[in-house]
Amino acid sequence: MTVRSEPAQHAGMRASNLALVLGEVARTGPVSRARVAAHTGLTKSSVSGLVTDLIAAGLVAESGPAATERGRPATALTLAPGGAAGLGLEINIDYLAAMVTDLSGAPRYHHVVRRDNRDREVDEVVADLVDVARTAARSAASQGLPLAAACVAVPGLAVGGTLVRTPNLGWPRVDLAAAIQDGTGLEVELENEANLAALGEMWFGGHGQNGSALRDFVHVSGEIGIGGGIVIGGEVFRGAHAGAGELGHVVVAPDGPRCACGGHGCLERMAGQQEILARAQVATMADLAHACEAGDQTALDAVTDAGRHLGVALASVLTLLDPAAIVLGGAFATLAPWLSAPTSASIGHHTGATEPPPLLVSGLGSDAAVRGAAGTVVGRVIADPAAYLAQRPASRVGPP
Ligand SMILES: [Zn+2]
Repeated sequence: MTVRSEPAQHAGMRASNLALVLGEVARTGPVSRARVAAHTGLTKSSVSGLVTDLIAAGLVAESGPAATERGRPATALTLAPGGAAGLGLEINIDYLAAMVTDLSGAPRYHHVVRRDNRDREVDEVVADLVDVARTAARSAASQGLPLAAACVAVPGLAVGGTLVRTPNLGWPRVDLAAAIQDGTGLEVELENEANLAALGEMWFGGHGQNGSALRDFVHVSGEIGIGGGIVIGGEVFRGAHAGAGELGHVVVAPDGPRCACGGHGCLERMAGQQEILARAQVATMADLAHACEAGDQTALDAVTDAGRHLGVALASVLTLLDPAAIVLGGAFATLAPWLSAPTSASIGHHTGATEPPPLLVSGLGSDAAVRGAAGTVVGRVIADPAAYLAQRPASRVGPP
């Protein structure tokens, strides 16, 4: 066992106390110093010193009077709206996206570039994503928001900074983090888009009761690929090889058609966007929604059929994981008015449950993953402000 020197112990304690105070402000702000002391168990004078440091670092702001403590007026503390910000990026099958959120998770910049990436060279798409990232970084800089780092939502399996598998794009391994890092000067992490969509939903989706977030649920994102984000006890479940939640490749039709993953009868081949559009005989998701609204029977049948297959997969998910809810996200959220009922009926039929857990609809839709990506960055700052302050240069945006 190594014994740490006194200065190291002191630095470690200061780091954890900064995190304790900032976390309390994030959770309960606007809040007075006295209340932070009461909730954290730190002395009022420690809290005072730590808050002074957090204000100087631009992470906490004073925001007028708080609820009074025994009649004495107190100054309220909140997360600083101009404090550290997060850059979320998303590379998906038919779009690229960027979002900047401030420390409170509020979106301050959002941009989506729609273009099918399947017929493109990987280098070309990565270069476009770097452009999207740099434009977002310039917007953050012009708003006075210092970006802490970037997180990229990817439609596949990422290991470290490398995108290793993208079933729907068929790309070779790509060092995506290094490319974004070179283009922006930011530290970059990669994460599967379905996992980030689930986190975005947990943090910003507003589904929990009495202000508490959903903590045990499965988020289903129905873009061209179908992804599942499994959240257990408020944490994403990734599995032994980061491959958990591949709901799109759960078999729902054993004799079904071959899938891009090499298997047969996967949910994605029976209820993916491509299949629904082909069956409905329309070109885009917007056309499909219009056709459903107009009562077009072919379109309604296509969505009903997708819901039936989705229900087969979700019946097994419910049996296996016992989540509190299933959240329909991405394009499935858009189709929810016509998709929810057949999906619920199918779940009921296959589980035999008279009251299966609720099928909720994402309020974030296709923005959930990029919002979760930006939220991941600011979440790390709140969890460890000392680490952020230690690595923070004044400006981290490269030349335009
Ligand atoms: Zn498959």
